[in-house]
Amino acid sequence: MTEYVVAPPAISAVPIKGSSAMFPVRRIFCVGRNYAEHAIEMGSDPTREPPFYFAKPADALVINDADMPYPSMSKSLHHEMELVVAIGLAGSDISVADALKHVWGYCSGLDMTRRDIQNEAKKTGRPWDMGKGFDHSAPMGALVPAAGVDPSKGKIELRVNGKVTQTSDLSKLIWSVPEVISNLSHLVRLEPGDLIMTGTPEGVAAVVKGDVLEGFVEGVGTVKTKIV
Ligand code: MN
Repeated sequence: MTEYVVAPPAISAVPIKGSSAMFPVRRIFCVGRNYAEHAIEMGSDPTREPPFYFAKPADALVINDADMPYPSMSKSLHHEMELVVAIGLAGSDISVADALKHVWGYCSGLDMTRRDIQNEAKKTGRPWDMGKGFDHSAPMGALVPAAGVDPSKGKIELRVNGKVTQTSDLSKLIWSVPEVISNLSHLVRLEPGDLIMTGTPEGVAAVVKGDVLEGFVEGVGTVKTKIV
């Protein structure tokens, strides 16, 4: 047995709805600007861009409706409500037609963003990591198995303190779930435990301490967190 010089990291995991079993998380990939109206609100042309990706560390997860601490070094914490895909079967160079066979399940998630740090990175051409991949930046609800979920349509919505801030439909994804899986699998070999946050619709906005965020994707489930 290997002896480690410091304690090995704990396995980050997402709960599964109606089960005591957990889904172990390997990596969290995120798609940028994948709804036209959000691309426009961020000042981009929604028609010309192929999908692009950034990542969050696996231990950025916030689960079981736990509170999310307001992050350091930011005065502009934004919510981004997203459908999350959980990969259950490894593969590279996956075809669009085969892509959904690699999905274990889906959940609702929040790609929380230090928008001021991200905007500064965009301006200077630097990486987005500290704007996107900080501690507690990925609240997620329970996973449901892929069978019975149609990721090509369904309402996606976020309420902040009971008021709707983001509302759209999965049918408005610029790159569909199978297209994202296929495209990403040409860049990296996808492995069981990988999560893909598929992008946010329009309506992103800043939150403050005390705000309660409640999101859902139709047919998938909910995500809830309070900013503290
Ligand atoms: Mn996002």
